[in-house]
Amino acid sequence: MTSGNCIFCKIASGAVPALKVFESDDAVAFLDISPLAPGHTLLIPKSHYRDLIDVPEDVLARLTSHLPKLAGAVLRVTGATGLNLLQNTGESSGQAVFHVHFHLIPRVADDRLGFRWNAGAYSPGEDKAIQAALRAALAGA
Ligand code: AMP
Ligand code: ZN
Repeated sequence: MTSGNCIFCKIASGAVPALKVFESDDAVAFLDISPLAPGHTLLIPKSHYRDLIDVPEDVLARLTSHLPKLAGAVLRVTGATGLNLLQNTGESSGQAVFHVHFHLIPRVADDRLGFRWNAGAYSPGEDKAIQAALRAALAGA
């Protein structure tokens, strides 16, 4: 399944060039064109799914099975000492390309990438209410 105007579908099919580093029957990994750090890599399924909610479990399982070796290679080749795995779902998260993908972002100490969010705190009882709502939602899932 592909989507006509999707840049990542076009990369997967070869219609648009990309610096591919890995390819299997159902997945492609390539260098992000605007890297947060050298070696910043994107992993995508060849089939078009919009985001993490849209992608079927079996497709996601196969896709993520490639992550350990890919992460290892990115670390070895870049000499990075750490790596952030990032998945944006939804515009408010920063998702700009609506074909599900994982970012592998190499990290070194003091690289000033600043991948830290401003952590908040729950108001009294809010955490338990959310926990109960999530447990109920997931019990039927
Ligand atoms: P996101 O914000 O999670 O949707 O990330 C989309 C990523 O795709 C961004 O980091 C872009 O730099 C990257 N990107 C967009 N177009 C291309 C392209 N043609 N080749 C490689 N990376 C791309
Ligand atoms: Zn697509």
